[in-house]
Parts: sequence; structure tokens; C-alpha cells
Amino acid sequence: MYFSLGSSALLLLTLTLESWALSFPRGSDELVDCLKSSLSPSGSVQTPGDPLFVNDTTRVSSYDAPSFKVVSQVTNEDDVRASIKCATSANIPFLFTGPKHGFYTGFEKLQNGLEIYTAALDQITVDADANTITVAGAGRFQDVVNSLYAVGKNIRAGIGRLQGLYGLLIDSILSLYIMLPNTTVVEVTKDKNPDLFWGIRGAGFNFGYVLNATYRVYDEVPNGQNLNADFEYPYTAANEFYQALKDEAPKMPAPLCIATSLQWSPTYNKIDGVMPQTTLFVNAVYAGPESEGREAVKFLEGISPVLRKNYTEVPWNQLTQNAFFLKGDEAILNCAATYGERSVFGAVINQVDVDASVQMTEQFNYLVTKYPQMRGSDNSMYFCAKQAVEAVPEDSAAYAWRGALGHQTWGYLFEGNSSTSDALIEYLPEKIRSTIADTAGTDGLEVYIGFSNGDEPIESVFGKEKLPRLAALKKKYDPDGLFNAYHPLPTSYP
Ligand SMILES: Cc1cc2nc3c(=O)[nH]c(=O)nc-3n(C[C@H](O)[C@H](O)[C@H](O)COP(=O)(O)OP(=O)(O)OC[C@H]3O[C@@H](n4cnc5c(N)ncnc54)[C@H](O)[C@@H]3O)c2cc1C
Repeated sequence: MYFSLGSSALLLLTLTLESWALSFPRGSDELVDCLKSSLSPSGSVQTPGDPLFVNDTTRVSSYDAPSFKVVSQVTNEDDVRASIKCATSANIPFLFTGPKHGFYTGFEKLQNGLEIYTAALDQITVDADANTITVAGAGRFQDVVNSLYAVGKNIRAGIGRLQGLYGLLIDSILSLYIMLPNTTVVEVTKDKNPDLFWGIRGAGFNFGYVLNATYRVYDEVPNGQNLNADFEYPYTAANEFYQALKDEAPKMPAPLCIATSLQWSPTYNKIDGVMPQTTLFVNAVYAGPESEGREAVKFLEGISPVLRKNYTEVPWNQLTQNAFFLKGDEAILNCAATYGERSVFGAVINQVDVDASVQMTEQFNYLVTKYPQMRGSDNSMYFCAKQAVEAVPEDSAAYAWRGALGHQTWGYLFEGNSSTSDALIEYLPEKIRSTIADTAGTDGLEVYIGFSNGDEPIESVFGKEKLPRLAALKKKYDPDGLFNAYHPLPTSYP
């Protein structure tokens, strides 16, 4: 699990969406002139051909990515304000970016826009006595984790391993400062601008740019160590594993989180000399004493055959680098690494359906076996305990899937080329998602926005109960749709 704090925490013009697809040859000159005369000396403007342009605009996935004619590199609040004003007066759509990690097919509608690149806004301040951390708008999660680990503290994840103990990251937000579309900056807490406090925690990217946010942090588990248990099974063990998951997931102890990953395995093939096939990785992390952790993951020992397994005690800031048999330095863990063409799908799971999970496994194995160019794809489940998530009232924030038992996410890597279409691979990504979503015990397809594709009905992403209030907020704070590049909210619903 890896992600940036920016939008996961918020889950963290008179332009219409349709008009975004139009290019803007005249406006771009006006925009560049405006930016050059408005940005502070440390800010800068990049256009195609400038040395930093490609780096600044390349997203982690280039699949359905937006395109830009101008980049405004901002370094402070005034630069952010100037960038919004210049884009608005030139009538040019914009997108705020930092780590550029998230995926959304709708990004493709933004062509020839302005990228407001905020990577310099990554300051992190820890107040260990007050148990708080303040993170600027483009702060990265690994930097947050390392800053806290150094002082014996930790933090919840968006959706992540510690959620059973401490809830979601949005539940830890104490206050934040947001620049609204009209470029005023307001403080948002449960008492100041409470309507925004509710909406930002689930749809924050719709209401402005969050300059910084302050979170509550927690004392580290004793010794700062977690039990990390890794297993690799042949995919034929899927039936047994999903049956065990179905039994165990609803009663997981609060410190436990289980993540899975199905991957095509050249190694397994070499060892056994059998046909290429996928294997099922299971990673279990227990944020507590090793003996308790071993007891909590004992059920994974009962699944056979096990191709390999590994138990280690890992400091919590090193978990991402060590889970799934990693050895601490794999380049793929670098959030700055780019995947090329990778699309994402996801689904909320309220109940594990064993037959459907096995069918999904077979569909995925068929995909990566028949289409070698798809072999970098992955198929993951996150089942983290949810005691502390559910202890927070459902109506406290816009985030709609507090009751989820787990989350499924698929990353489809169209390796090395873009000539492999969805049709060529038999629309398997959509079919595989349906296999799970149709049996997940949900009200149709439901998906955590960080794992969404962009093809889902709006109700599947935000939840139909939340939409009337979210639409009213959108109408109040962003009636002209300036912040519409990512999962735009309507201004009225239904
Ligand atoms: C492989 C993978 C694994 C993941 N694992 C997890 C996981 O375990 N748990 C989890 O919770 N999530 C997970 N995610 C989702 C992840 O949270 C998002 O991809 C990530 O948060 C995107 O952040 P970003 O800053 O790169 O935003 P972008 O993807 O660049 O932007 C998304 C939207 O947020 C806006 N935005 C960014 N910063 C701000 C800001 N400061 N203020 C207002 N709007 C802003 C952007 O303008 C854009 O509209 C995963 C994603 C991937 C691809």
C-alpha cells in the first residue's frame, strides 16, 4: 500500500466538462504572460520544450492522463492564488498536482490545460508534545511516516493497516487551510466552516486546494515493531484461502490487516516446470506483540500448499518496503516510479463470496496467461480490521464506505505499448470487477475513490445518501466548476 497524503487525506470558470476537451491556442500566451508577471521569484513557468516540463507533467500512470500546455511551479500561497487567477482570466482549465499518483479515466478530458505543480509544498511539522503533525498540500506519506517514527509516533492511513486501531486518516484531521476557488483562504475545523469540514473528508479535491492540514497522531505500539507475515500460494489454493478469509475477516482483531496480491509468476513457473501461472501472495501485518500476531495469522498456516512463507519483525515505517517478501529497497516502492499505461479498477466488499473470488482468480489467471503483455498487472484485496473506523458516526464525513469489510483493487498494466485495447483483452477488467461487485453484499458497485476507474456512476463513488449534501456544497463553493478535473460533483442532486 502506498499513496500520497494529498488527496487520500481529503478522500481526500465558466468552463463545462465538455469544453475542457477544446484546446486554447490564444489563451495560452495570455496565461504564460500573466503567470510570468504574477508568480513570486521562486515560482516558475514551464512550457513544452523546457527541461522540466516532461518530468513535471508525467503521471505515475500515463493511461488516460491529462495533457498540459503550461506548468505553473508554485512555491507558496501567493503563487497558488496567482495561478488560479491567471487560469481563470485566460479561461483555461487547470489541475493541481503533487505526486501525481492517482488514476482517473476522466483526466483525459482535460487537454492542453494548466498544471499547477505543487511539489515544493511538501513541508512537514511534527509537534510531539501536542500529538499533531501539519502537512503541506503535496506532502508524501512516506515522509510523514518517517517524521513520526523518529519521535515514536504514528498516524492512521487513508485506508490502511492501522485503521482497526485508529480509524481512517480523515478521522484524524483536526484542522486545515483551504484556498477556495475564489482564492480566499479559510480555516476549516469541526467548528469553523463545519460544512466544508464534512465535505472535504471524502471529496476535498472538489472545493479548492488544501494548503496544509493538521492531524492528530498517536503513540507508537510498544517497541515500534510489527509482525509481518508473508505467504505465497499457487492460485489453485484460492478456494481454501477465500474460505478462510470469509471466516476470519469479520472477526479480525483491531491490530490486524491482511492484503493480498495475485500476480503472474515467472519464478514459480521455473521452480515447478509447469505452465506459467499466477500465484497468490498474502501479507498479514499485526501492529502488536509477535506472539499475539502469530496467533492472529495462524489460519494462514492451514492453507496448502505454501510455496514459501516468511515472518519478520519490522519497524512500522519500513512496512511498505518489507511486506510481500520485499527486501527494503525495491524501486517499485518509490512513489515517483512510473508504471506507463496502467488502469485501475476497484470495488468495496461487504462480504467475501468464495465462489466469486475463485472465479475472479481464474479470470485473472486467464488474462495474464493468454495476454503476455498484461503480466505486470496485479489484483489486490485489503482487509484491515475496522473497529475504529466504525466507531466514528457514518454521517460525520462525506466518505461513504465506512462500513466496508474490505476493498478490492485491480491494476492493469498495458506493458510497453498502448495498442492493447480493452476490447482486445475481452473487456476482462470490467468483467472481473463485475464478478466481485455483483456478489459483494453492496448496493450495486461501490468503490473507494482512490481505487476508482472513472467509468462508475457517481453514486458508486460518493454514495447516493451523501450526494444531495455534496452537491449543495459544490454549488456554494465551486458553482463554476473550477475544481472539476477529478470526479467532479454536480451542483444539484438528484
Ligand atoms: C497502486 C496504488 C495503491 C494505493 N493504495 C492505497 C491505500 O493503500 N490506501 C489508500 O487510502 N489509498 C491508496 N491509493 C489511492 C491513493 O490514495 C491516491 O492515489 C493518492 O492519494 C493520490 O494522491 P496525489 O496527491 O498523487 O493526487 P493526484 O492523483 O495527483 O490528484 C487527485 C486529485 O486530488 C487533487 N489534489 C491533490 N492534492 C490536493 C490538495 N492538497 N488539495 C486539494 N486537492 C488536491 C488533484 O488536483 C486531483 O484532482 C492507492 C493508489 C494506487 C495507484
